[in-house]
Amino acid sequence: MQRLGEKYQSVEAFGWAARDSSGHLSPFVFSRRETGEEEVRVKVLYCGLCHSDLHCLKNEWHSSIYPLVPGHEIVGEVTEIGRKVSKFSIGDKIGVGCIVDSCRACESCREDQENYCTKSVATYNGVHYDGTVNYGGYSDHIVVDERYAVKIPHTLPLASAAPLLCAGISMYSPMKYFGLAGPGKHIGIVGLGGLGHIGVRFAKAFGSKVTVVSSTAGKSKDALEIFGADGFLVSTDEDQMQAAMGTMDGIIDTVSASHPILPLIGLLKPSGKLVLLGATEKPFDLHAFSLILGRKSIAGSAIGGIKETQEMINFAAEHGIKAEIETISMEYVNTAMDRLAKGDVRYRFVIDIANTLAVTRS
Ligand code: NAP
Ligand code: ZN
Repeated sequence: MQRLGEKYQSVEAFGWAARDSSGHLSPFVFSRRETGEEEVRVKVLYCGLCHSDLHCLKNEWHSSIYPLVPGHEIVGEVTEIGRKVSKFSIGDKIGVGCIVDSCRACESCREDQENYCTKSVATYNGVHYDGTVNYGGYSDHIVVDERYAVKIPHTLPLASAAPLLCAGISMYSPMKYFGLAGPGKHIGIVGLGGLGHIGVRFAKAFGSKVTVVSSTAGKSKDALEIFGADGFLVSTDEDQMQAAMGTMDGIIDTVSASHPILPLIGLLKPSGKLVLLGATEKPFDLHAFSLILGRKSIAGSAIGGIKETQEMINFAAEHGIKAEIETISMEYVNTAMDRLAKGDVRYRFVIDIANTLAVTRS
């Protein structure tokens, strides 16, 4: 089924889409454009399930365009290249993250921070400059300008590399930008989910000290023994939180739902920064004095630029950093979304698109 009023493009594509804010995904035939001169066509091999997919499927940000094919943690193989493509060859394994274009002229674009270009185009639920709606990686293939794709080094396992394209860069970029990456720095990571667990691995590779702040006491063993965190706090345990007051240089908050931030601000040292990544629907409750006394700041951060994404992937390959994944079939995706909504995932679902999507087409 083509989207109502959408122009038909020349190449047929197949994926799974939600038709409304129930978020329920089912098979969907659509079309994609011809491969442009500077574009590559990518056969999708794996695609991660980001909590942003869930927010969009359920229209929690009030901007969803249906039918909606999610997926912005894409690893695939180049099957076709445009005449002017120089970065990739057919057969290359490449990654596509959250954006597939930007204006290329503004200050952000010129500084390799296309992620902050106000005209950047999202991989899904975004409108391409030609007026067509973009569909994401829960599909058999995508077409992307070579500038917005990155190379996946041979040493990275493809399935567990997929979450690096969103979760990985979203943690890597603020750690570096806010000066939290390196020996002598103490980072708090709030929420041990898809973003959080990869963040612990990056922070440890940078040499920082890491404390996980979690609402789930049962994740303590994983945080300390599997991911290598130095400390673990249960956010609802007042004694533990009180004992850790004023100890952190920065905190990266990945929680996907409304939660109190005042206790987190309390964990910061003077001049400490609380960086919000979790895109929660409701506003936070904030008292000015919590920032004034201690010159603390609250900031946000969104993914990273393409150059930095390549840098992050190379760093991950060099340090053996990958996501802890549960590989699933396309058929399982709705169950996986239900589990993600309940926090029942350790720690990222990745769909095996290449082996399980085609069989769902009747
Ligand atoms: P996720 O895998 O679901 O992890 C979120 C974690 O937050 C959960 O594992 C849980 O960790 C904690 N949490 C969830 N509900 C909570 C609640 N009610 N109270 C306290 N803690 C709760 O999600 P994700 O894929 O990592 O994404 C996290 C958020 O970041 C989402 O909102 C997503 O849209 C956003 N995001 C932002 C960027 C960016 O660039 N800014 C990029 C990607 C995603 P514990 O069990 O440890 O508490
Ligand atoms: Zn994401």
